[in-house]
Amino acid sequence: MTQIPPPGSPRGRLAPSPTGALHLGNARTFMIAWLSVRSRGGTLLLRMEDLDHPKNKPGAAGAALDDLRWLGLDWDEGPDIGGPHAPYTQTQRRTHYARALETLRARGLAYPCVCSRRDVEVGQSAPHAEDGLFYPGLCRGRFADYEAARRVLHPGRLPAWRFRVPEGETVRFEDGFHGPCAQQVDALSGDFVLARDPDGAGYMLAVVVDDAAMGVTEVVRGDDLLPATPRQLLLYRALGLVPPAFIHVPLVVSEEGRRLAKRHGDTRISALRAAGLAPEQVIGLLAWWCGWAAWGERLTLRELLPRFDLATLRREPAVLTKQVKAAMKIQD
Ligand code: GLU
Repeated sequence: MTQIPPPGSPRGRLAPSPTGALHLGNARTFMIAWLSVRSRGGTLLLRMEDLDHPKNKPGAAGAALDDLRWLGLDWDEGPDIGGPHAPYTQTQRRTHYARALETLRARGLAYPCVCSRRDVEVGQSAPHAEDGLFYPGLCRGRFADYEAARRVLHPGRLPAWRFRVPEGETVRFEDGFHGPCAQQVDALSGDFVLARDPDGAGYMLAVVVDDAAMGVTEVVRGDDLLPATPRQLLLYRALGLVPPAFIHVPLVVSEEGRRLAKRHGDTRISALRAAGLAPEQVIGLLAWWCGWAAWGERLTLRELLPRFDLATLRREPAVLTKQVKAAMKIQD
């Protein structure tokens, strides 16, 4: 669906990570992101978030695009079709992250850190932030520059860069689905990692730099990332960038309320395709989970488009029940 967007129309993004196959859970989130933008005549880009090298799976990037297309999703810019903000693959965008890191460093908002994971774990019985350890600022103000930090490490190890989180500030924002949100970042996560080494930009920095550079106006993603948003908002401000609107949607979970994992059955889109299901059946299920279709209804994304309404999106997580597994021929 290539079209000239009206001025001020939304610009969204699909941001898969090639760390595993696309499954029903992330497909549902991508579908909502797609519907949200397409229902208002906006544009969508696809960005491959492949910075997490050790976890990347060979072939997963291409397979994710293929699965998304099979479901009927499309995008106007991306690694496969190019666009005005190319490249759309994060490992090819390192110069952008390095420049942003340099800006933060020049503003006194980034500092080198030599702490290992063990140093940070000491004295912590449980992680504070859901997605990482609390960092008590051990290296804040400790080194005059990066070189001084490097000298205290064994050769072969490099200092990380951390963001200097403002003290005692509560970051507030309005989530498009959850409503008002607030978090005191220094108490929850502390100074977080910007880059594991000078060339190794992490997720927080990369996602902010890319969404801003690519003109993204709305981010629709799983609500597992809701706790990360205040950190990202601090980076937007520190870099003088305008943040997008954030819409965090519930995840698909197992009957015990756990995040989908292999043990809950093979929910990969590729497995459903191999089992002979039609895309309309899968879209029907994803829409039923959202509260926009009847059980067993088959429909295309185009047919679903007029039913999209964030106000009627079910607030409870979608559950992979036995009934769903039987209908989707999902093997345990
Ligand atoms: N690439 C991330 C993921 O697959 C999404 C990041 C984001 O939406 O900000 O979990």
